[in-house]
Amino acid sequence: MLIPISSTNENEIHAYAYITKYSSKKMMKYLLIILFISGFMAITVFFLWDISDTGFKNDIAEVSSALHPAFSAFDTNNTDIYLEGTNVVIETNGEPNHETVWWGKGHKLYKEEPYVDMNRGGTLITDEDNSFTLTVSSHPQLAEEPTATNMGPIGISVSGANIFNDQEGNGALDGALSSIDWTGGHKGPTEYHYHLEPVAWSKDDEALIGILADGFFIYGRKCHATGEHPTDLDASGGHISTTQYTKTPEYHYHIINEEYINGNYIIFGGDYRGTPTIKRKERKNRPPRPSIAEIFSFMDDDGDNLLSVNEVKGPIKNDFSIIDKNTDGFISKEELEKAPKPAQGKRR
Ligand SMILES: [Zn+2]
Ligand SMILES: [Zn+2]
Repeated sequence: MLIPISSTNENEIHAYAYITKYSSKKMMKYLLIILFISGFMAITVFFLWDISDTGFKNDIAEVSSALHPAFSAFDTNNTDIYLEGTNVVIETNGEPNHETVWWGKGHKLYKEEPYVDMNRGGTLITDEDNSFTLTVSSHPQLAEEPTATNMGPIGISVSGANIFNDQEGNGALDGALSSIDWTGGHKGPTEYHYHLEPVAWSKDDEALIGILADGFFIYGRKCHATGEHPTDLDASGGHISTTQYTKTPEYHYHIINEEYINGNYIIFGGDYRGTPTIKRKERKNRPPRPSIAEIFSFMDDDGDNLLSVNEVKGPIKNDFSIIDKNTDGFISKEELEKAPKPAQGKRR
């Protein structure tokens, strides 16, 4: 079907007429033939995919029927991990599977750590419901925008205990360092959790630390792909490479090899690069906070019904200037009653 080419308007009109006339009968016939051939090809391709070992049908089957091999590193006594459709559910009792002072004397995993300030946390691991559940995609994708982390758990470690970010309460971690145990963990007023490289099982190596709330795994300071500290990490400590659990390169985080303090390293201080899905269980069995009378009987050493800065401990000491409304250098029972929320002992 040759189309006359010309620059004059008259010939263009002629050409259109020619095509229209031609289309009405023969073009229809060609179209039907093309449709028939492409239909045949589609069926053939589908059939080949179906019987092939590498077809997309098999990939979809893998997505929904197998847990990522890295989940084998999680302590099965503390965690329950299973697929739910295209998601993975990671349930943990939140308890660490190793020794720490935060178990309290008498517990089989209690460790003597005289330098740890126990007053900050106030309660022991066994006093709290440490449980937490994460539901993440079994095949997480990088998001277009990073997402900041929140207070509370940002991930679950292979020990069973939760991972927190680089903040404590609403401030810097520095203020809480005195309460951190030998392996980067402590108790806040809530569950036991890690802020720093958990040396119980991660010693400047490639060990899996855990999984974050966006579904990506986080490893130690070295990468299995090179055996070295990776040099291609993004601001969140992430990069794409193979790991000890997968031959296919995939996105994962590392503890960034930048010393925070005294040979300690922050686990995760950046933003999520995937899409976080935080789902937490209702808290139960929270111990009651001490009453005002209990706090005074515990701290008011000179019995003058006023707490001086030397008498108080823990959160009350940290917030002393906020609680001491009239700034006379003493906290009265009335001032403690009206103290803002972070202070312990606000009310029973
Ligand atoms: Zn903390
Ligand atoms: Zn890596």
